[in-house]
Amino acid sequence: MRFRSGLRELYAVIVAALLASGSATSFAWSDHASLLWPLVRQMPVLLEPAVEVEELEVFLQAEADGLETFLAAEEARARTALDSYAPRPEALAFSATAKDLRRAFLEAIRVNPTLSYTLYRQEMVEDEPIPAPLSWDSLSFLSTGISHETVTYRPLAVGDLVAPAYVIASASDEPDFGMDIGLFEDNGTEFGARYGFGVQPFGNPNLEYGSQAPFHMGFYHLDLLTRTLQPDLLRTYPAWRVSLFGALSEFAFATEHDYWGWRFAGWALHYIGDLTQPYHAQPLPGIDTLDALWTVVRGRTDEAVQLVSNRHGVIESYQHQRLVTELKHKAWRAPLLLAVGASTPVPVWGEETLIEGLSRESVDGGTALDAALEAHIPERFVSDVTFEWTGSDEELTLLSAIRQEKGDGAIMAMDAILIEQMARFSRYARAWVNKTLAQHKQTGSH
Ligand SMILES: [Zn+2]
Repeated sequence: MRFRSGLRELYAVIVAALLASGSATSFAWSDHASLLWPLVRQMPVLLEPAVEVEELEVFLQAEADGLETFLAAEEARARTALDSYAPRPEALAFSATAKDLRRAFLEAIRVNPTLSYTLYRQEMVEDEPIPAPLSWDSLSFLSTGISHETVTYRPLAVGDLVAPAYVIASASDEPDFGMDIGLFEDNGTEFGARYGFGVQPFGNPNLEYGSQAPFHMGFYHLDLLTRTLQPDLLRTYPAWRVSLFGALSEFAFATEHDYWGWRFAGWALHYIGDLTQPYHAQPLPGIDTLDALWTVVRGRTDEAVQLVSNRHGVIESYQHQRLVTELKHKAWRAPLLLAVGASTPVPVWGEETLIEGLSRESVDGGTALDAALEAHIPERFVSDVTFEWTGSDEELTLLSAIRQEKGDGAIMAMDAILIEQMARFSRYARAWVNKTLAQHKQTGSH
């Protein structure tokens, strides 16, 4: 009995960990567009300004009939192909005769319908700044946060010709603009009450980004015990997002709406990027079930939770700061940017790639990442249970604190482990881009 109650407490720990880390966790790598840029900027085929910008409504109006059939087939496929899928309520099925096609489409794919989904692209480091950029407010209802503060967006006009690299890179950050916020029935939104995802399984709904966590984290390799005792952890949706948005991209290319083909492919790529972060592919990296039980027995559950949450936050801050610095200097030959841009052989994207390839590798990489954080980051940030990383002032001085307390060798060691994560990102992102390119060509529209 004691063992059983210990187990119950263990799962409470896991859920508490996810609740506690809700603010940091839902981001993973921030500014996905800049992260993808070193990769797509060196693919000449993606740099030709060959894609004609088109409003969502125009795409929907032109293809409404086909889209109705296509989305119905996609829903049927998701129900049989995906574990723990939350079926789309019949009332939300896309109808070609809907009065408001745009609203009908956004609800049928169950994204937040209050965003503008406007025509835009992110300004990249090589761009000359333009006089009238787009305000963040016109793209998102969220506050900017540290990672989006320094990003500039520019409007695109209908009929503009734009390079696919800009469209797919920009769109790969879009799911962090609020697309997956407020979708659960207890999130206090009118649409969340109708979307069929039930009560939010984990993540803190009171935090601004909290409710997107189950869409941006995917626990596809939980052990049997965890699956059995904590089935709520199975209710994660990045695999569904990738398959739906990937299929929509294919549909858009096939019907010669290339702009939306690239943009939907970018949406899918966001979740691929998130799952390359080990703290997004499993609840407690670096802590196996026995460790966790031992922690429970010693009554140190809250402490373990705090450490996992802090380490999760630290690696994301470290990654963002290192990446931004190298990008600012256009240091394309720096090891970190080379890791993203590397043209090493990559897998061919298939049905199993997301879960059996990418997500499994991220789970496997979690232990070494956690150990590196413990070894090379000042103890206060990653091993002090009384410290709260999220919201602390230490984020901006993280790199100098590491240098001061742990020496330059620690930066080198952290870069090395970060490069492993970035190489994984690069491999799977490139596989996705290759698949998208192949589909684009296959349609023969150009
Ligand atoms: Zn995300």
